[in-house]
Amino acid sequence: MKSFKVLVAGGGSGGCSVAAKFASLLPKGSVGIIESAEILFQTHYYQPMWTLVGGGMKSVKDSAKPMSEVLPKKAVWIKDSVASFKPKENTVSLSSGENVQYEYLVVALGIKLEYNRIKGLPEAFETPGVGSNYSTEYVDKTFQSLKDFKEGNAIFTFPNTPVKCAGAPQKIMYIADEYMRKHGVRDKANIYFNTSLGALFGVKKYADALWKIVEERKISVNLMHELVEVKPDTREAVFRLLNKPEETKTYKYSMLHITPPMGPPDAVKNSTDLCAESGYVDVDKYTLQHTRFSNIFGIGDCTNLPTSKTAAAIAAQGNILYQNMKCVMEKKSDSKEKYDGYTSCPLVTGYSKCVLAEFDYDGNPLETFPINQARESRLAFHMKKDIMPTLYWQLFLRGMWNGPRLTRKLLHLGMSK
Ligand SMILES: Cc1cc2nc3c(=O)[nH]c(=O)nc-3n(C[C@H](O)[C@H](O)[C@H](O)COP(=O)(O)OP(=O)(O)OC[C@H]3O[C@@H](n4cnc5c(N)ncnc54)[C@H](O)[C@@H]3O)c2cc1C
Repeated sequence: MKSFKVLVAGGGSGGCSVAAKFASLLPKGSVGIIESAEILFQTHYYQPMWTLVGGGMKSVKDSAKPMSEVLPKKAVWIKDSVASFKPKENTVSLSSGENVQYEYLVVALGIKLEYNRIKGLPEAFETPGVGSNYSTEYVDKTFQSLKDFKEGNAIFTFPNTPVKCAGAPQKIMYIADEYMRKHGVRDKANIYFNTSLGALFGVKKYADALWKIVEERKISVNLMHELVEVKPDTREAVFRLLNKPEETKTYKYSMLHITPPMGPPDAVKNSTDLCAESGYVDVDKYTLQHTRFSNIFGIGDCTNLPTSKTAAAIAAQGNILYQNMKCVMEKKSDSKEKYDGYTSCPLVTGYSKCVLAEFDYDGNPLETFPINQARESRLAFHMKKDIMPTLYWQLFLRGMWNGPRLTRKLLHLGMSK
């Protein structure tokens, strides 16, 4: 049986960056990474770029790099997928039937897209007008639908589950609005944001700013609307009204952008020792250590951390996890670094503007710049489009970017958290 000092399950944003930190601390070959992406595509994607791909500003290719280029060279890449976790035996079972042993485990399997929970999908993606920025398979169709749009309803959905990047379902809507204005079809369009949530955004400061934007741009927001079916033949989308669960409402569409329901990866959900009732990895919200197994930690979208699931959150989580796991490895019990829930969502509101939301577990803004970030800004847009991708590939994935905490402190002359 293969055995590793540190085993990382998943080589996405969280897994790759944490593996890089431990690979530079420990001798070569001590860190193993189980990452299944190799089997099909051999690719690591910078997913935040897909918002821009859907708006025609970047291509899927721009968001991709071979997995072999991004995983740390000093670590061993196990090209297989996790079938289940056996935390009581310190082993992970792989789909190939092999088992891998570990002293310390980091679970970083991301979140699972569940398009097939919506009746009529994924078949409707084969028809015109239906796209989704959440998948490399369908993101190009978002921009195609936008280019083809002539008149009618353009509907943007938000499912009734936790999602990654809770801002992305509406970012593409603002981009679409600007695109339609530039191409002279906006006055023939009705834009709808049909969301399962009871609010436009979870943090009041940014929700207030976004309500102003939707009002100015004449976008209709329908709260408590959950997409349950797409009928491509008649080009209709059926929504369950969550405040009257027996009722549905059907909308005709010319363009439909789908944010799919999401859930914990099967390997986590089926390993009941590892997960919370929700099916996500059960970790302490401050230390990221598993609540029952002290040699297991979790990071990113697959965990039950009660914060918005983003790569920005993972940057902040990575260093906390590293420090705390190192303490456990060195049998020090004193220093416990605490994660404050920091997350960030660059709410792109068009082709040159962005509201840069940054906040903690309690919904308190934790803004990097000493300006009001709830106002749309060109600087924030260029950070999102031009600076963040380089930072991701060059620093984040190498375990060298721990979020903007230090910059924030400096820019606020030490007066910020
Ligand atoms: C459209 C869109 C826009 C976004 N915008 C932003 C943004 O502006 N800012 C931001 O910070 N974040 C944004 N995000 C969110 C961000 O991309 C994710 O939160 C982040 O990538 C999650 O990292 P992760 O490591 O938890 O999961 P992932 O990066 O998804 O990695 C999980 C890895 O686990 C592997 N895996 C899964 N199951 C198995 C298995 N059984 N065995 C082995 N390997 C497995 C997968 O192949 C994958 O490589 C956006 C996401 C999307 C889709």
